[in-house]
Amino acid sequence: METAEIRRRWLRFFESKGHAVVPSASLLYDDPNLLFVNAGMVPFKPYFLGQETPPWDRATSVQKCVRTQDIEEVGKTSRHGTFFQMNGNFSFGDYFKAGAIEYAWELLTTSQGAGGYGLEPEKLWVTVFENDDEAADLWVQLTGIPRERIVKRGMADNFWSMGVPGPCGPCSEIYVDRGSEYGPDGGPAVDEDRFMEIWNLVFMQYERGAGQGKDDFPILGDLPRQNIDTGLGLERLASILQGVDNMYEIDEVYPVLDKAAEMSGKRYGATGGQTAQDSHPDDVRLRVVADHVRSSLMLIGDGVTPGNEGRGYVLRRMLRRAVRSMRLLGVADPVLPELLPVSLERMRQSYPELQRDWGRISDVAYAEEEAFRRTLTSGTTILDTAVERTKTAGGTTLGGEEAFRLHDTYGFPIDLTLEMAAEQGLSVDEEGFRRLMTEQRTRAKVDAKAKKSGHVDTHLYREIADSLSAPVDFLGYEGVSGEGRVAGLLVGGATGGRARAGDEVELVLDRTPFYAESGGQLADQGVIELDGARVRVTDVQKPITGLIVHRGVVEDGELGLGDHAVSRVDADRRRSVSRAHTATHILHQSLRDALSSTATQAGSENAPGRLRFDFSWGQPVSPALFSEIEARINEVVLSDQPVSAQVMDKKTALESGALAMFGEKYGDEVRVVSIGDGSWSKEFCGGTHALTVGQLGVVKLLGESSIGSGVRRVEALVGADAYGHLARESAVLSQLTDIVKARPEELADRISTMLTRLKDAEREIDAIRRQQVLGQAAQLAETAGDVRGVLLLTHHVEAAVSGDDLRSLVLDLRSRLGEERPAVVALASVAKGRPVVVVATNAAAREKGIKAGALVKVAAGVLGGGGGGKDDLAQGGGTDATRIGDALGEIRSAITRLGA
Ligand code: ATP
Ligand code: MG
Repeated sequence: METAEIRRRWLRFFESKGHAVVPSASLLYDDPNLLFVNAGMVPFKPYFLGQETPPWDRATSVQKCVRTQDIEEVGKTSRHGTFFQMNGNFSFGDYFKAGAIEYAWELLTTSQGAGGYGLEPEKLWVTVFENDDEAADLWVQLTGIPRERIVKRGMADNFWSMGVPGPCGPCSEIYVDRGSEYGPDGGPAVDEDRFMEIWNLVFMQYERGAGQGKDDFPILGDLPRQNIDTGLGLERLASILQGVDNMYEIDEVYPVLDKAAEMSGKRYGATGGQTAQDSHPDDVRLRVVADHVRSSLMLIGDGVTPGNEGRGYVLRRMLRRAVRSMRLLGVADPVLPELLPVSLERMRQSYPELQRDWGRISDVAYAEEEAFRRTLTSGTTILDTAVERTKTAGGTTLGGEEAFRLHDTYGFPIDLTLEMAAEQGLSVDEEGFRRLMTEQRTRAKVDAKAKKSGHVDTHLYREIADSLSAPVDFLGYEGVSGEGRVAGLLVGGATGGRARAGDEVELVLDRTPFYAESGGQLADQGVIELDGARVRVTDVQKPITGLIVHRGVVEDGELGLGDHAVSRVDADRRRSVSRAHTATHILHQSLRDALSSTATQAGSENAPGRLRFDFSWGQPVSPALFSEIEARINEVVLSDQPVSAQVMDKKTALESGALAMFGEKYGDEVRVVSIGDGSWSKEFCGGTHALTVGQLGVVKLLGESSIGSGVRRVEALVGADAYGHLARESAVLSQLTDIVKARPEELADRISTMLTRLKDAEREIDAIRRQQVLGQAAQLAETAGDVRGVLLLTHHVEAAVSGDDLRSLVLDLRSRLGEERPAVVALASVAKGRPVVVVATNAAAREKGIKAGALVKVAAGVLGGGGGGKDDLAQGGGTDATRIGDALGEIRSAITRLGA
């Protein structure tokens, strides 16, 4: 049965049992604790935590998931993918254990002809939590499964919680016995590859308190409304229903593997054992390629672009690992243009948007492969240098810092470093490398945490959020001031106290006009006045959904929970940021008009008077087109259309053509910002804006550049800042026209003519100087004198000449002195502030043992430097130009000694 069919049957089955079918959320669904959605229940968390009321009692979904922690398992076990799909059914205070068990059993064991999956009941095993006799009994009563195939397991395996106070409860997992060829008898406790987990049923039964780890927390009592959360691995079930050994061989994955095998000329499965564990390394590589190519397709599809941190890094790592694995399989040409389309072909049936966005997706992926290929080339040179250095120093191990630097600066993967060092007979200090990696990761984590949620861990915010009777009321769309009450207060990162002058505080108000940083728009700043106290607000964040946290310092007085608060946002700053945000919308649409509708937003920052806008596009925008775009933006500004916002349901918004950003989390209700009637620009947006586009005044684009694979960045100034910039440029221009004495439009021509002339003149001067120096040759030759039978010519050339000129003069003089008698020419001069000396000897002099190299050394010693060369011609230099006379004198003395 095809994977897409398994998916369809799932949704149809639960729909027929009264479940609302909920589409998969984006992999980038906004959850402060997660990099990617990693389970079907993630988008439903607020319902399970009681933060929001679910619109239905039952729901089902097939959710896209990415588990980065499983990356090392890929290809080595039969059942772990980085990307996979989790089929789920959920009950919010509706059916509980009996319902979940009955549905699962019915769907798994109903024959395929009757719409089920047709698994043989004898092959199914289940686990239950050791104290959950209720579940074990229900399994026996409702399904008839014999007790021998019900395994009891402890807290670590079969008890679920979110790691924070809230719901928790026992789970029950369903396993399929794949047969004795996959491992020993004995059930899941003995072998998890033969007995493969396919479905986990979570019974949210209790309320837990604070604590640590998987099992150290108090159970506070029963939940008032008990919930069901289940997850079935779609790929795992597919591997069973398609009778293949592992999830990389199912219909949605195998064609990529097959293509990779064909490209490399390897035969998959040619050697190695039956189970994944004893596979040949080439087979593991082929599975890694197939898995990573698909995961990359899905990640880029949801808007991730390769980068050096967070989500972007995960994608980069997977793309590069795929390319790298193909290299190890012997394919050195670009591989993604061959492999990615194969993956698209398989995945578009369930995810048609992949086809729609294919231009963007393939651009991003192919650009990253190109970038990696360049890295491989430059990294190889650097690695070679490091290897050489290690060998010269007599070492046999490449230092951990070298490996780390290669990784950190050049993106050189450690496995590559290992392999290439080994080829040159060196090992690598892997432990040192890993230590540095861990240190860096810890640093990065601390930084990210501190930025996103201050210094406290999110559970304090959750406590505050739970204590509110309603989500914080944001007044900032209507105005920049308002009244409210202190509903939460952290002093120095802790709850429960009062704050005094000088304290750093985090303040939550029940109503606030302060805009929290989000959607690329920077936070408001301003002042909150309380009964007798004043807080200067420097930052505003939303560390968890629905909570607005003001950060700042108490300037005066004392405050506590419940105090009355009057908020005043810095209005000038807010207006300036709002203008930048409106400019961003105009820029976005103008880029799409000028380039293509695939030039979509990949990130942005709206700050006072300036904006930064990143968009997906693979090549530079020509200067001419760039100017056109700028002109178009300013035309729109002049049209002075109103900017308006409307709240509507998401479906209506999408149907009306409003642009949604990848990776943003939108609820059922969304806010849509339109320019004019919205037919030209209409975007999902929670930000604040100018009232009309005319308020922007002027928009000045500053430039456009690449910031990585397939993403480009535009920076721009808006309003007074744009005017200031133009005014400064115009002042510079008038200075220039004054100096050059030309009209502005003539400046470019005039200056380039001047530069050409200047260059010509310099060249001419050089030529004249050389002629002058060389012209002295005949005269100079006359000054040669006899020193103990050697014809010696020493001279200090006063004109500033280059070392080259000095050498040609020396050679000219030597030939003028002839070959009959031993002759030596030694000239010195000053080039670029440093003394230079050049010595030449003729054959007769050399026969007498007079060597140019030795003489130069003598002279250079006097000049405070060094030098050398051959016996017939040598050059040296030093630092002390005042001693040129002495240096030439030393040469004379040396010849006197030799001639004697
Ligand atoms: P395992 O112990 O095999 O790693 P798990 O306990 O991590 O599984 P759950 O968190 O319970 O799995 O997820 C529910 C279901 O999702 C599992 O029963 C399995 O079918 C599927 N699943 C989990 N991780 C993966 C993965 N990396 N690739 C494919 N399917 C997965
Ligand atoms: Mg797991």
